[in-house]
Amino acid sequence: MNDIFPESGRPGREILDDIRRMKQSDSRWDEGRMFAFVYTPGPEAVELMLETSKLYFFENALSPSYFPSLAWLESEVVAMAAGLLHGNSQVAGNITSGGTESILMAVKTARDLAFRKNTGIPDMEIILPWSAHPAFHKAAQILSLKAITLPLDSDYRADISLLPGLINKNTIMMVGSAPSYAHGVIDPIMEMGNLAEKHRIYFHVDACLGGFFLPFMEKLGYTIPNFDFRVRGVTSISADLHKYGYGAKGASLILYRNRSIRKAQFFAHSDWPGGPYGSTTLSGSRSGVPIAIAWAMLNYYGMSGYVELTRKTMEAAEKFKKGISAIEGLEIPGNPTMSVFSFTSDDIDIFGVNQELRRRGWCLDSIMVPRALHFILTCRNLEHVDEFLADLEQAVATVRSRDSSRQGSSVIGQRFLTMILNGFPKFITRVMGMSAARSVFKKHSASGPGEAVFYGILASVDDKTNLDRLVRNYLDRIYMKR
Ligand SMILES: *Cc1c(COP(=O)(O)O)cnc(C)c1O
Repeated sequence: MNDIFPESGRPGREILDDIRRMKQSDSRWDEGRMFAFVYTPGPEAVELMLETSKLYFFENALSPSYFPSLAWLESEVVAMAAGLLHGNSQVAGNITSGGTESILMAVKTARDLAFRKNTGIPDMEIILPWSAHPAFHKAAQILSLKAITLPLDSDYRADISLLPGLINKNTIMMVGSAPSYAHGVIDPIMEMGNLAEKHRIYFHVDACLGGFFLPFMEKLGYTIPNFDFRVRGVTSISADLHKYGYGAKGASLILYRNRSIRKAQFFAHSDWPGGPYGSTTLSGSRSGVPIAIAWAMLNYYGMSGYVELTRKTMEAAEKFKKGISAIEGLEIPGNPTMSVFSFTSDDIDIFGVNQELRRRGWCLDSIMVPRALHFILTCRNLEHVDEFLADLEQAVATVRSRDSSRQGSSVIGQRFLTMILNGFPKFITRVMGMSAARSVFKKHSASGPGEAVFYGILASVDDKTNLDRLVRNYLDRIYMKR
């Protein structure tokens, strides 16, 4: 047994000092040099968020009878979003803790409706485009449903021509993204909706990213294919308040075409000593803070405010896209609609470019197919476009000019490591997971040449179950008192 539990308390000031010290290793999202994970509006709105959070810090949204204001705020947010996504007055939904929970609820609802309709379905299947967010696979795993993969077309959209062949009597749900996380492209929602309607299959649109962005783009005059309740076959939509809704973390929406569908989402249990119990989503007790902040933000910005945020974000996106395409050797895969996209290269090591960018203080995520670097832009990135493009040009030049023998040896090293990873997955994934976890805690020294090699290996491993193993080992090491 360890003795880490504090024997006695300490002054708050000391504790805050400790936390601040630990926080020093975190990424500086507030400098506009980060392109993922954090969505913040301007400073005035931040003040409002912090004030609102004080009002609901202790309240519990589990109990609408004790805290009716939270049920009211939630219903208003749902109604506002339903209107935005062209739902009629029948549309109903709830606020969840995030996109993952919204998706879990949609999949659970689809399953429960299928159960009700036909208890005879033994192996329920859900059809997921290969680009669908992992949250759908998490949901399928939790609910013991079989995930059937729909391949992508050459623009990284769900390949609609292959969809009819995957639909069978066990199919209980299909999914499209608006847009997808990795490539920022919108699946053919209209065509998928038509098939869903024809076969009477539950159809969920994952608009976690686009729900609070695409409607504002439409107002700006962009042509956006219908992806929302205007498409008749759409049963439910997820839209994240804590992404482009600019809410606080822990807020997403799940919306259903009507209330009778939503009832399948609710949970109730009365046969226990405590008496009737009910909850809307997965959570039991839940904070009122993200709910109240979501309401506050929708009212603070209103339609015109969100349209303006979107205008600025798209201005940034277009400048980034144009600047990147102008650099020789770089290209943007697919036809990304909004401010989410990636860029790749046929002839240079893109992960090496990322390493160079990181050295210059930029923070980009990478994707594996194609090997590319990934952007989720917000209006905060606008003022850094020129600086970024200059650094990118340099980074590309640096990688290009690297001694070709060195590149050759790193490719051979990578091939060798990939080979032994495939040969001894248990051992190697443990070592790699451990070293990846360690590098996170020594972040600033971690952008050595190893990083590009590491990502190169990840991208060239064929058996993805080995990568899953690596990820579990990584998580195992990272959540450990060292
Ligand atoms: C972020 C995201 C999700 C998952 O949302 P979380 O809030 O991270 O749980 C699902 N789908 C898409 C397209 C996303 O971008």
